[in-house]
Amino acid sequence: MSAIHFNLIKTCSTSGARLGSLTTPHGRIDTPIFMPVGTQATVKAMTPEELVQAGAQIILANTYHLYMRPGHELVARLGGLHRFMHWQGPILTDSGGFQVFSLGELRKITEEGVKFQSHLDGSYHFISPETSIAIQEALGSDIMMCFDECPPYPADYAYVAKSMEMTTRWALRCKNAKKGKDQALFGIVQGDGARTARAERMALQEIGFDGYALGGVSVGEEKKLMHEVMNFSAPFFPMDKPRYVMGIGAPEDLIEGINAGFDMFDCVMPTRNARNGMVFTSFGRLNIKGARYAEDSLPIDPECDCYVCRNYSRAYLRHLFRSGEILASRLNTWHNLHYYLSLMESARKAIAEDRFAGFRKNFTKKDLVLTVLCNIFICLKKGNRKLTQNYKWRFDNVWFGFCDGNTCRWTGCRWWAVCPDEPCAADFHVCHFLFSPHPPTAEKSKGTPYSA
Ligand SMILES: [Zn+2]
Repeated sequence: MSAIHFNLIKTCSTSGARLGSLTTPHGRIDTPIFMPVGTQATVKAMTPEELVQAGAQIILANTYHLYMRPGHELVARLGGLHRFMHWQGPILTDSGGFQVFSLGELRKITEEGVKFQSHLDGSYHFISPETSIAIQEALGSDIMMCFDECPPYPADYAYVAKSMEMTTRWALRCKNAKKGKDQALFGIVQGDGARTARAERMALQEIGFDGYALGGVSVGEEKKLMHEVMNFSAPFFPMDKPRYVMGIGAPEDLIEGINAGFDMFDCVMPTRNARNGMVFTSFGRLNIKGARYAEDSLPIDPECDCYVCRNYSRAYLRHLFRSGEILASRLNTWHNLHYYLSLMESARKAIAEDRFAGFRKNFTKKDLVLTVLCNIFICLKKGNRKLTQNYKWRFDNVWFGFCDGNTCRWTGCRWWAVCPDEPCAADFHVCHFLFSPHPPTAEKSKGTPYSA
């Protein structure tokens, strides 16, 4: 009897996307889902109540860090991780493998396990598949992960193949080491994207786990390869179990992962970037440090209904960040997590309504437009003057132009586009287009941006 139950509600007919619900000992979560990362038994800068308000349903905690400090036995003595950190919802713990392997010179791998030196005080430690499970059982997470070796990227095929075989042997040891019945255990498919090797690793299914994860992605490879690996791997995962891609990613990676048929994701990106002043919006990423926001009374994203966007201006958030105020980290994190979690909610709605392919296309199109704009900005910075005035071009059925006489009141951007929808054909600033094809306030460009 598994500690969790996965109910696959629907598979989108227009894509591989899946809608499901996962029942755990600490509550039910809707999938696809993003799990905020709480490395040290805290999602940095946020209280559990705030996480719930931002839309979090499940969080991730790091076994390695909690083993090193304060120690899993101490956490167990104080009632387990849920009570220790005052989070009532489900928790997934990683195996510690990724952190241990990222220690590089400080660790030595054998069949038995990994010997390593603490990054805190240099003391020696040993983690085996059995100890990893013992630590995770002491922490009391709802979902535990098998201890796996994470091969570096790039690595040669022979090394990766050997490493994956060991990871599978370790997976069996993890399953045998698991004592309790109130925690689930996920197997991990590792590798470097070598297709045949990934298929071979489906041997894990013979051991039998409560869910399966794809590891070894987002380790420095090209985005295109990452997306290919997800698309290739998903069909090898069992239909009736949750599928988790570890460590991704950017919003566009999550959309690709969902499209491929994965259900669970985690990444430090929304929280870490927030603390560095980078926020996600429906019209792309925004760096709150920018001088252009000094007197900007708009919220981070006028389309966002989070607590931060309802109450604070970009000017205030910029001021907080520049003053080194703790509140800057808190508010930026709150908004970013809300952005990620709302994106998941929109994706779930799109799958439920059987229109995920269109949802993805729309999202990817925005992304393409932004990429093109970024490239042009770079071009302008390099002093390509011919683009700077009265210039327009067509891309993906949308007209773009540059107007140096008008500044958009939403983002300060000075680009405009023409709606591709023929009857509409309104020209408005690009940032408006990125909100929707028919923005509520389609400002006509003033002046004469057209000259063609
Ligand atoms: Zn917001």
